[in-house]
Amino acid sequence: ISFAHFGFDDALLDVIIKLGYSDPTGIQKQAVPVALSGRDIIGIAKTGSGKTAAFIWPMLIHIMDQEELSKGEGPIGLILAPTRELASQIYIEAKKFAKAYGLRVAAVYGGASKMDQFKELKPGGIEILGRLIDMVKMKATNFRRVSFLVLDEADQPQVRSICDNIRPDRQTLLFSATFPKKVETLAREVTTEPVRISI
Ligand code: AMP
Repeated sequence: ISFAHFGFDDALLDVIIKLGYSDPTGIQKQAVPVALSGRDIIGIAKTGSGKTAAFIWPMLIHIMDQEELSKGEGPIGLILAPTRELASQIYIEAKKFAKAYGLRVAAVYGGASKMDQFKELKPGGIEILGRLIDMVKMKATNFRRVSFLVLDEADQPQVRSICDNIRPDRQTLLFSATFPKKVETLAREVTTEPVRISI
């Protein structure tokens, strides 16, 4: 499987080529076609596998498919991450590809300028949340339009309550480096008939 098999448009392929990626990684080969088909995924993959792009690319394509993209507010794609560090890594990766479509990316986490970060959310596109406890407490974000949800190493108790506030007909991708019982239980609760991918 090469990038040509994914059916990406030229705008996205140009960015990928300019970054010097010659072939999809193992997790990308397995997860991208499944995600593009609309199925939920439970992915077992470590950092360094290329898993971030494996969920960012299908998320961007999902967003661009929405007829209501420019109407309403709040993000369509939402990524939950457990720490500020991971959230900012995902943010950097997401920005590289989101620019292919002129989509906004906002990363939100606890810290000095929370309200400034929230202002960023209005245009929609992708939102990445770290420090989930702050988000639950503040209830400041608008999840009404979220229809593509990614849980990246996000197995804290707050994840469930955030998922409960997102429409049940969403597409959900859960990625974890390991798959202990705790993660399995959460994965079963937040996904629907998921395809399991392990590399
Ligand atoms: P990740 O596992 O998502 O943290 O990605 C690890 C690194 O691999 C990041 O710096 C990515 O930009 C890079 N990367 C992702 N996909 C590819 C690819 N297909 N070819 C080369 N590098 C990639």
